[in-house]
Amino acid sequence: MSSASPNEHGPVYVGLGANLGDPERTLVAAVEDLSRLPDVELRRSSSLYAAAPLGPSQPEFRNAVVALAVARSPESLLAALLDIERAHGRVRTERWGPRLLDLDILLWGERVVDQPGLHVPHPELHRRRFALEPLAELDPQAHHPVLQKTVAELLAGVRDQPVQRLDSVLWRPR
Ligand code: ATP
Ligand code: CA
Ligand code: CA
Repeated sequence: MSSASPNEHGPVYVGLGANLGDPERTLVAAVEDLSRLPDVELRRSSSLYAAAPLGPSQPEFRNAVVALAVARSPESLLAALLDIERAHGRVRTERWGPRLLDLDILLWGERVVDQPGLHVPHPELHRRRFALEPLAELDPQAHHPVLQKTVAELLAGVRDQPVQRLDSVLWRPR
């Protein structure tokens, strides 16, 4: 790792989603890609989750969340995530449409980023059980710096959305 303390703002949580092709394989490969990014350390991964899709009718999603220690800027991490999405053949069509791979920055410790093209915490995080559930598996006490609530508290508000934890491990620390 170069530059300053990677955990200056607390862990970075990235949400992964896929619902086309072989979603499980795509997510395993994407986590592997994340682990190889310069100035990024993969710390932990949640289990795999199955979630009913939002938006237009389409196949069920597979979702997960990973915790990263990042010694680069949010903009530069986002650019790397978009590169990984592209490497997995994502073509952007309609918003919320089906995709081979979606990588979102969910939380960056206590940091708040509000600029064109990048909003952290992710603006929809608190409304989405498929993101909150795997995040809570990693750290139920993770704090949302804008809403001033823990992930466990936010999760209580979205329990009615159908999300299922699968008995499948995406990545183990070596
Ligand atoms: P949603 O943002 O509601 O989850 P989506 O993931 O389908 O929808 P995308 O088409 O993947 O939306 O992303 C559109 C743009 O969102 C990206 O090009 C990126 O610039 C921007 N964006 C803003 N904040 C974030 C964030 N925290 N993580 C990832 N992308 C973000
Ligand atoms: Ca998304
Ligand atoms: Ca996205």
